[in-house]
Amino acid sequence: MNGKVDRERGSRVLAAIGVVTLMACGVLVWQVTPESTSRASLVLKKRPMQLLDGVYMLGSLSPSVAYVIDSSEGLILVDSGLEADCTALLQQIKYLQLDPSRIKKVLLTHAHGDHVLGAMYLSRLTKAKVYGGKRDLDVLQIGGPREAMFSTYDMPDVQPHPTTIDVSLSGGETIELGDTRIEVIATPGHTPGSLCFLLERDDQRILFTGDTISTITGDLGTYGTYLPSRFRSNAADYLASLKTLRNIAPPDILLPGHPQIGLAQSATPVTMSPGGMMPEEEGIPAEVTEDQWRAMLDTGIKEMELLVERFTADGRDFLDGKPIQLLDDLFYLGDFTSSAVYVLKDRDRLIVFDPPAGAGFLEFLEKRLGLLKQPLDRVDAVVLTSCDPEHSGGLPRLIQKYDPVVFASQQGLTQLRQQLPRNTKFKAAETSGDGSEWPFRAIAVTGRGVAPVAYTFQRNDKRVLISGRFPAKLDSRGQVREFLRDLGGPEGDAAAYLDSLDILEPLQPDIWLPTSPVNGQNANLYDDGWRDVIERNRKAIRESDRR
Ligand SMILES: [Zn+2]
Repeated sequence: MNGKVDRERGSRVLAAIGVVTLMACGVLVWQVTPESTSRASLVLKKRPMQLLDGVYMLGSLSPSVAYVIDSSEGLILVDSGLEADCTALLQQIKYLQLDPSRIKKVLLTHAHGDHVLGAMYLSRLTKAKVYGGKRDLDVLQIGGPREAMFSTYDMPDVQPHPTTIDVSLSGGETIELGDTRIEVIATPGHTPGSLCFLLERDDQRILFTGDTISTITGDLGTYGTYLPSRFRSNAADYLASLKTLRNIAPPDILLPGHPQIGLAQSATPVTMSPGGMMPEEEGIPAEVTEDQWRAMLDTGIKEMELLVERFTADGRDFLDGKPIQLLDDLFYLGDFTSSAVYVLKDRDRLIVFDPPAGAGFLEFLEKRLGLLKQPLDRVDAVVLTSCDPEHSGGLPRLIQKYDPVVFASQQGLTQLRQQLPRNTKFKAAETSGDGSEWPFRAIAVTGRGVAPVAYTFQRNDKRVLISGRFPAKLDSRGQVREFLRDLGGPEGDAAAYLDSLDILEPLQPDIWLPTSPVNGQNANLYDDGWRDVIERNRKAIRESDRR
C-alpha cells in the first residue's frame, strides 16, 4: 500500500465535513458529496478540505491555494494567497473549525504575489512570524519589480507591496512548532528563493512544493525558465533542484501551489492562464506513487537538460532590450520607442532594418553598436518591413547622413517617394533574392500595417526571418485583444493576414526577429515553436469570428 491514506479515517472526516456543511449558514458553503471524493482516497478540489489529520487545504483562493498544518502549539500556514483573498482564507480556516488566531507561522514557498501578498495582513492580524527564501528576500522586501512578483502571469489589478520576512531560509533548516517538524528544502529555479517544505505525519511524507511543482498532473512550473532573467526563473537552477528532489525519498502526498491547473503539457513554454483551471467539481489526486514521482521529475529533468543545452549551444538570445550579437554579423540593438532594431553586416556593408520614428535614433544606433564594438561609419541599406512611422520614421536622418539604398515593397515605394528627398536611392524589395547583390530575400505579405513585407536570409546555417508584425506572438489575453484591435483597424484585413500566415508557416525559421518581441522572447525557435506561434494567430482570428 505504500503508506497511503487510511480510507476509514477519510470517510470519518467526510462525515464530519458533511455535518458542518449542513450546519453552515451564510454566504460561503462548500458542498461535499460522498461520491465526489470516493473514487480516490485523497483528491484535491477547489474548496477548503481536511486532507489528513491536521493537514488542510484552503482550495478556494485564486489562482493559488494555501495549506494549513495544525500543531500542538498553533497553526502553520503554507503560502498566504493574495491580500484580497485574506477574507476568503480566514473564512475557510473557520469553516474547517480551526481558530485563525492560532496562526503562528506563515511559510512562503516563493516570492510570487499569488503566494505571498496576504502574508503581511495575516501577520499583523495574528502576530505570526513570516518565513521566506533568502534568495527571494530582495524582491519580497521591496514588493517588486512586477516581473519578479508575477512573472508573465501579471495581475494588473493587484498592487504588490513589501513583505517583511522574520526568518529567512536557505534550505536545510528544520522549522519546529510543538509536536510538528518541517524540513526546508531549497529548490531554486522557478524563483531564486523557491522552497519546498517536507512534513512527516502518521508515517506519511507530505511535500509542499509551491510552484517548483505547481500541479501534479500538469507542468512543473518550468515556463519561466524559457524567459529572460528579469522574470527570475533559471533553467540550470531548476534542473539542479529537480535532481535534488529526485534524490530524496519520494513523498507519499504532494501538495502543490496550483493543484487546480489542468492537464497542460510541459514540453512547450506556456504562460499560465486562468483558462487552464480545472472545473470546480473535478479534482486531482494528492497521493503520488514512487513511479509517478520519478516519471514526473525525469520528464522535467529531460526538459531542463535540453533547455540548458540549447542555451549553451545557441546563446540565450533573448530580445529583452539589451543589445546582443545573435549570429555572425547579425545584431539586435534593443528597442527604440518600443520597436526592436536589427542590424546586419554583409561584407563591409551595414544594413539597418526598420528605423523607428523618434528623436535620437541615430545616437541610439551609434551607442548600441558601440556597445557591441561595432563602429557606425556607414549605412548602406535601410530595409523596411512596412512603411508606417514605427518602421520607417527614422529614415530621413539616415538618408541625410549616409545616403543608403532604401528597400520597401513596391507599393510602399510609391508612398515613400512622395515623402523622401528626390535623390533617395530606392529599391523594390521584390527585386532582392537569389542572384541579387543583397543577402536577403523578400516575402510578400498583406493584411496588417502599411505596405508590409518580410525578409529571410541564411547566416551560420540558420534561417533568419525579419518579419515586422507578422505574425504576432500571443501569450496572453491582453496581447490577443491588442492584436485583434490592430487587425480590425484601417490597415488590417484578417482574411489577407491569414493568407500571409500560410505563406510564412513553411519557412520554419531558426531565428525569428519581430518588431515587438513579447516578454523578451528568445530569438531562437525550437521544436514546434514556429507552428505554435502561427497557430495561435489563426486561433485568435477564428475565435473572434465566432463572437
Ligand atoms: Zn510562482
